[in-house]
Amino acid sequence: MTNRSFPIGSRERPLQVAIVGSGPSGFYTADTLLKQKDLHLKVDMFERMAMPYGLVRYGVAPDHQKTKQVIRIYEATARDSRFRLFGNVRVGRDLQVKELQEHYDQIVYAVGCESDRRLDIPGEDLSGSHTATAFVAWYNGHPDHREGLFDLSARRVAVVGVGNVAMDVTRVLVQDPQALASTDIAEHALQALRKSAVEEVVVLGRRGPVQAKFTPKEIREIGDLPGVDLAVRTEDLELDPFSRSQVEKGGFARRNYEYLKEQVCQGARGRRRRVRLRFFTSPVAILGKQGRVGSVRMERNRLVWDEQGRSRCVGTGVFESIDVGLVFRSVGYRGIPIPGVPFDERKGLIPNAAGRVLRPPGQEAATSEYVVGWIKRGPSGLIGANRRDSAETVRGMMEDLQGRAARTLPEGNHEVPERLLMERGVRPIRFRDWRLIDEEERERGRSRGKVRDKITDPEEVAEVLKKRRCGEGA
Ligand code: NAP
Repeated sequence: MTNRSFPIGSRERPLQVAIVGSGPSGFYTADTLLKQKDLHLKVDMFERMAMPYGLVRYGVAPDHQKTKQVIRIYEATARDSRFRLFGNVRVGRDLQVKELQEHYDQIVYAVGCESDRRLDIPGEDLSGSHTATAFVAWYNGHPDHREGLFDLSARRVAVVGVGNVAMDVTRVLVQDPQALASTDIAEHALQALRKSAVEEVVVLGRRGPVQAKFTPKEIREIGDLPGVDLAVRTEDLELDPFSRSQVEKGGFARRNYEYLKEQVCQGARGRRRRVRLRFFTSPVAILGKQGRVGSVRMERNRLVWDEQGRSRCVGTGVFESIDVGLVFRSVGYRGIPIPGVPFDERKGLIPNAAGRVLRPPGQEAATSEYVVGWIKRGPSGLIGANRRDSAETVRGMMEDLQGRAARTLPEGNHEVPERLLMERGVRPIRFRDWRLIDEEERERGRSRGKVRDKITDPEEVAEVLKKRRCGEGA
């Protein structure tokens, strides 16, 4: 037994924190914790993927390399001697939540939202109807999606949803693949895009242009693409009084709306590829042709407003169909439950109050449990929003330490995760291992004129590590 009499967070009895997930919210939490004054602590981060950085590596579009530079901040955190990364470890399978509770004073779940919301319409699961998440993961070289087959032989494609993910998917589909060739796009995706027959992407927004979730920069990026027309219908820009008052308030809604109005004025310019934005339009069925997607049936909507000024769409009974060979559903993400952690099925989140996990009465955990990022607040907000969000959770963590007696941790506690993983035949990937993979990917990229060439096959990761460790004399 160790250090019974010392206060938690003292040099003699450091605070032990486990963070589950290595995306932006996990790293901002680690960074905020490590910067706490007069607090001695150790932070272990567990990541189910072999590689760290979650959505920055597997979600941010390859033509947004500047956004990915945020990794430098996370690298500085990972180099802190009080921090350890355990990649290739799935909590709930390789290590149980109960085991973390036994060996850590506080646990933070930073697992993001890895699944998708559904449309719940007929034909949603036809061949050729995909989630945007799968497509994004595929072009970003996610190991779980490298076998994903996207048949890009159709000339027209529908994207459902008008958020920034829909914009990413649309941009990747219509831009000249040569513009992506020097990025870190997965090689299999680049090859498929080079052969793509897609000429037109129809983007479906169920509400109006003022309610669109894309940000002005993202819609402009599409309008600025060489060889691509961005088209909006005049009737879709007619506003009801509530939408007009939203535009008058300014902000993103106004900037988006003004920009779309400019596009209408410019008209179609006969370019090789087109993006057609359709607002007030909901897909009601995806119809098959020879066993795969052939068309989308859609209904025109109108907006109704409640007393709080919130809008929702209501079908008008006016239907139409368009022929499409592929559908990408980009209607938001949702979380996946972790065995042993409460989960709100309706919201797809871990229930919490300002980051403190809420367990049902009688199920209180011995260890304090917290959440950060999308699994805490829902799948919205840009990467930077996770810094504020993590700060709130860490404030709660620090408050909860006040006056808390340090429980005795088992002997050799610090070595326990590695020992348990070894016993279970799991080989964790530590930060120094990731650096070797990182070097290899950059070197491979240089020889192909790319920022990096991602390794997507887990077996290849193991081979590269073996080779590079030998090279280091390890
Ligand atoms: P999002 O911004 O919430 O957009 C989801 C879209 O799906 C909305 O247009 C929504 O319409 C629509 N939708 C939801 N249910 C629908 C249904 N049943 N039928 C038709 N449409 C439906 O989510 P996201 O695009 O997945 O993005 C997630 C977060 O990541 C956002 O904060 C986004 O800004 C961020 N992100 C940023 C970037 C970037 O900065 N470049 C890139 C990617 C993602 P309603 O509004 O009517 O619900």
